[in-house]
Amino acid sequence: MIIVLKHGADPKESERLVEWIKNLGIDVHESAGSYQTVLGLIGDTAKVDADLIASLDIVESVRRISDTFKCCNRRFHPEDTVINIGGAQIGGGGFCVIAGPCSVESEKQIINIAQAVKAAGAQMLRGGAFKPRTSPYDFQGLRGEGIKLLLAAKQETGLPIVTEIMSASDLDLFEKVDVLQVGARNMQNFDLLKALGQTRKPILLKRGLANTLKELLMSAEYIMSSGNPNVILCERGIRTYSDYLRNTLDLSAVPMLHELSHLPVIVDPSHATGISRIVPPMALAATACGADGLMIEVHNDPSHALSDGAQCLTPDEFAQLQARIASVRRAIS
Ligand code: PEP
Ligand code: MN
Repeated sequence: MIIVLKHGADPKESERLVEWIKNLGIDVHESAGSYQTVLGLIGDTAKVDADLIASLDIVESVRRISDTFKCCNRRFHPEDTVINIGGAQIGGGGFCVIAGPCSVESEKQIINIAQAVKAAGAQMLRGGAFKPRTSPYDFQGLRGEGIKLLLAAKQETGLPIVTEIMSASDLDLFEKVDVLQVGARNMQNFDLLKALGQTRKPILLKRGLANTLKELLMSAEYIMSSGNPNVILCERGIRTYSDYLRNTLDLSAVPMLHELSHLPVIVDPSHATGISRIVPPMALAATACGADGLMIEVHNDPSHALSDGAQCLTPDEFAQLQARIASVRRAIS
């Protein structure tokens, strides 16, 4: 971190600042020019509050030269993280497709869809049991019962399962779940992230509706610095000025996140667009820009789905999309 002091800064004040920083266990290299003094901070500056220092009267500017995220930073871990989940693999050049309904609705529904997406080559099954709905009057999910039905579908098909956890107090119910999803609305639920950091379960961390890439990485950092290295990042669209789509799919996040971090990055074109006919082109685009996989909502009867029917592909549409994804993968390999 570099601190530039204002021209004519009171030497007593600057001495006090230097002492304060040194007391944090950080070395300070002082370089006094004829016009301005620059302080170079050497050591672990992650705990230094740059905004607080910038607010001091004697300070002109503060600049971090190292990133605040360490565990997920590619600089400190150049190889891709590869996460193995019951035969499926995410990261490191493979491609993992997670498919299934928005919500688990019944045993028949989830098993039927699980069989269909497996036949079309999906590697994992998704399905929401705990649903974060904007309206309290909408279907809230089958909760614990939904997880049991997902486990039945796993038993039937062998597909590992991915489902959302909304509260750390439900963790016991997720013991047999393969991947725990943190939804967009909970990306900055720091107590939840810390609790998940104490497990070794793979965590699928979705980008918040209005969060920056750095905020997403800092949330991954919460999980990883608590002891769990198994984090998968997911771009699922953000709020912008788009009026005809549910969100805006920020595909440039994929190569940027790959540059910044060694964690796998997948894309969810279903929540990003909200319209089933727009899902395939965006899924193909996500494949082409280097995503490590996709999460796609598939329903056997979208018009009667209890949530997100408008963005669900039918099993046939999903199978057709899978063939096109394979073509894109060949084209870019
Ligand atoms: C979901 O995956 O069902 C979901 C609610 O996604 P998001 O958190 O991205 O809205
Ligand atoms: Mn959904």
